[in-house]
Amino acid sequence: MAVLDDLSGFEFEDVMEDVFRNLGYENVRQAERTADEGRDVMMEEVVDGTRRGVVVECKHTGTVGRPVVQKLHSAIATFEFDGPKRGMVATTGRFTGPAIEYAQRLRRNDDPYPIELIDGEDLREIADEIGLDLYNGRIEILCDETLRPFDPATSVAAPAEEAFQDIDNIESTDLPAPHSHVTFRPVVAVTADTNAVFETSVGVIHRVNDRSRFVVHAERGHPETASGDVSNLVLENLHATVDLEADRFEDQFDVVEERRFGQTQTEYKDWAVDRLREHQTTTVSYTGDNNVTYTKTCEPNRSDISIQSIEPVYLPQVRHTTDLQEYSYPYEYFAAGPSRVTSEDEIHQCVHCDIAGTDNTYTYCANCGSINCNSHIKTERLEETPVCTGCAVTERFAFKTKYFYDEANRDAFREEYEAMPFYEKAKENTWLVVSAAVFVVLVLLGVLATVGGL
Ligand SMILES: [Zn+2]
Ligand SMILES: [Zn+2]
Repeated sequence: MAVLDDLSGFEFEDVMEDVFRNLGYENVRQAERTADEGRDVMMEEVVDGTRRGVVVECKHTGTVGRPVVQKLHSAIATFEFDGPKRGMVATTGRFTGPAIEYAQRLRRNDDPYPIELIDGEDLREIADEIGLDLYNGRIEILCDETLRPFDPATSVAAPAEEAFQDIDNIESTDLPAPHSHVTFRPVVAVTADTNAVFETSVGVIHRVNDRSRFVVHAERGHPETASGDVSNLVLENLHATVDLEADRFEDQFDVVEERRFGQTQTEYKDWAVDRLREHQTTTVSYTGDNNVTYTKTCEPNRSDISIQSIEPVYLPQVRHTTDLQEYSYPYEYFAAGPSRVTSEDEIHQCVHCDIAGTDNTYTYCANCGSINCNSHIKTERLEETPVCTGCAVTERFAFKTKYFYDEANRDAFREEYEAMPFYEKAKENTWLVVSAAVFVVLVLLGVLATVGGL
């Protein structure tokens, strides 16, 4: 606990808040900050179907004596809670004999407000048990649970292979195995209730009673709310996690990377409360007693928002890179077993222009390895297979541009062309054939008109 000993009193309470939330206590929060010895932690527990309020005194000192326990005992009596209540003193140090005796006597006498004592040694055991570790002077989230980086029913590379099935002119048997990289990204799923009532002289003008569930990207740096798709992916699969430590996934992926959680749970909680306040703030119009219309900005207080749970989990982001001749195609997605949300897709994308997305059709150029939109793919004149405008050798025959894999094919076709009779040559240009036909018809019509006019 050397590092824990360096924390200030307030930081110690933040750490304890994380500890209690991890132990399964609900509605864990700190009392208003006061100038004196710090804040108490308030929380609730459900034991045998009964909800009980718990007031915790956190003491970041060497020794805790009887007066502290006694003071808490009277404080519990005034703690507003509809139901049974109890107390707890948590310290990084130890309790004096009289403090322990006092707590034991309350218990023996079936006192309505029993007090549990947790010393530094107990804390160390609890921290170990719930996977909170001391790192750089803070307790960071240590989490072993991850959503599945692939569907065990198929192969790791299946999503990339599936994407290539949409591309014309490429066989899955021609595809090399992609280079697969998985990054386990920390996220936290937040559940919070907002209960706010806004009143003016005319009565209640606005009410918020809302439960929110959302996901936050929790890597070092600034937390960031996940997109709706990614949030749903995480929330719908939170029940289907696997142990990251036990199953390292090193056999299935070429590279395995694990990012750290950047903040403590309390920091995520504070951040989430701020986001929810912003999100729930609205401007309401109402009519006063004098028939004048007013507008009022209704912003919930911090105390109107209670964080019900903060669940850390790893969200795997998988990146497959498939090399085809001169080109490299990344395909990246967030994974939860068979479900995924694409974050980068260069397979459904033309290498020559901005056309991208799964709504278009694409054709593979076996000559250079490119994937092309319809306007950047042509038919090779000699082989009559697809070739892209990027690598094709071109030459005009019968006033029309023809596309070839290379000079050798072009020369071979030139010989064929030279040997063709006139009408075969003309067929190389459909437009020319049609115009020639129209021209002939017109001439005939002209002749008929002349004949008729005679
Ligand atoms: Zn294109
Ligand atoms: Zn090409």
